[in-house]
Amino acid sequence: MPLTQDQLAEIEAQRGQTTPTLRATAPGMENRLYTAHPVLDHGLIRVIDYMGDDAAICQAARVSYGTGTKSVSNDEGLIRYLMRHWHSTPFEMCEVKFHVKLPVFVARQWIRHRTANVNEYSARYSILDREFYIPAPDALAAQSTVNNQGRGELLEGEEAARVLDILKTDAARAYDNYEAMLSTEGQKGLARELARMNLPANIYTQWYWKTDLHNLFHFLRLRADVHAQYEIRVYAQVMCEIVADWVPLAYKAFADYRMGGVNLSATAMDCVRRMLKGETVTQENSGMSAGEWREFEGVLGSG
Ligand SMILES: Cc1cc2nc3c(=O)[nH]c(=O)nc-3n(C[C@H](O)[C@H](O)[C@H](O)COP(=O)(O)OP(=O)(O)OC[C@H]3O[C@@H](n4cnc5c(N)ncnc54)[C@H](O)[C@@H]3O)c2cc1C
Repeated sequence: MPLTQDQLAEIEAQRGQTTPTLRATAPGMENRLYTAHPVLDHGLIRVIDYMGDDAAICQAARVSYGTGTKSVSNDEGLIRYLMRHWHSTPFEMCEVKFHVKLPVFVARQWIRHRTANVNEYSARYSILDREFYIPAPDALAAQSTVNNQGRGELLEGEEAARVLDILKTDAARAYDNYEAMLSTEGQKGLARELARMNLPANIYTQWYWKTDLHNLFHFLRLRADVHAQYEIRVYAQVMCEIVADWVPLAYKAFADYRMGGVNLSATAMDCVRRMLKGETVTQENSGMSAGEWREFEGVLGSG
């Protein structure tokens, strides 16, 4: 667990306080609030605050004076309709704020999602902790031979040991030098904003990250996907579990239409129609490139 006893006590104290409210609360999210979910070797993600629930989506869609909810099946049908037809603004009525601790190289991918509000730990103001991401054996893999943006077989034996040794030694040496440069014993000591520049990208940073449900779904669609890098995907997977507890109906629709659904081009749809008529469709007579055909076969599960 990457938390100290003091940090755990702070979280427990926060969870021990309750305040009566007229605002809508989501029982699944109340259970998650403040609790830290460990990710990778030193990372975590936890919910700091949230606004709205499934009913808030329906309320906004119906522009209702009350809660906007009808029967569960009615609400579920409405939410599925909104998701199916890309009617996205009702989902923007729900907001969530996360506290995330993550390696800097993961943060660089994450920050590309511009539709969020971010406040990061300041390494100009504070000294970074000696915490570096070192992949577990099942994440230490070779370059993929079929995907330039991916990894292939696991490294094993001596090679795995050599790579791990390099990662650990480099991290330790960089941090030792960071401390040496900051040191004021008989010297001025280098400014924190400069000393940090020698630290590797596997050092951990932290931020508060706030977004709305529509943009969170967009983030999760890209980052919980198998094509996303493992180290960001594991955060996205925990977030999926949290969102499923928070807005169960909206998450179910998202999992069905976005995570489990596919987009087909007009050419691909034409091929599907021809196949349904019993025609033999091949890449050569499909009108698709080899790459498009491969992905199409993957979608149909016939590759
Ligand atoms: C598997 C994978 C591989 C990737 N590889 C690379 C890579 O090699 N190199 C690289 O640089 N990036 C890469 N990315 C990052 C990717 O290009 C996007 O920057 C990232 O996924 C954020 O997506 P987004 O812009 O849709 O999200 P957000 O920034 O959250 O934006 C959400 C949506 O809001 C709209 N929007 C937001 N800001 C603007 C704007 N200023 N103008 C117009 N519309 C806007 C767009 O519709 C956008 O889709 C990769 C991402 C993935 C998932």
